[in-house]
Amino acid sequence: MKKTSKLYAIVKGKCPQCRRGDIFTGNTYGFNIQRTNYKCAHCNQRFEIEPGYFYAAMYVSYAMNMIEMISMGFATYYLSGGRLDFDSLWLYVGVIFLTSLLLSPLNYRYSRIILLHLLSPKIKYNADYDISR
Ligand SMILES: [Zn+2]
Repeated sequence: MKKTSKLYAIVKGKCPQCRRGDIFTGNTYGFNIQRTNYKCAHCNQRFEIEPGYFYAAMYVSYAMNMIEMISMGFATYYLSGGRLDFDSLWLYVGVIFLTSLLLSPLNYRYSRIILLHLLSPKIKYNADYDISR
């Protein structure tokens, strides 16, 4: 069996220890609201490794939000032909508000994935869990 790449695991929202089990149930967008699983169905790694652990994901989500809002601000500026008068204020507010609304399920998902995969030294990738079935 081949090892699962870290990039694949991050993009697909897989468990940081085995890279096989899903961190979330449901889809990012859709009628089943996504939830974070309590533990990995494949290797039993707990995702919320200590109580309140996912509060840290809020900071990641906040950073993602800032980057998205700033990019949307610039995109609006260029697409509107560089308008910066008072009348275009609502255009900026509208675009930025709508984008953060549309991206919030994505932020929820990826802030937790980034926290678990990149900012959690307690959880390590273990190829044994990945390769053995
Ligand atoms: Zn796992």
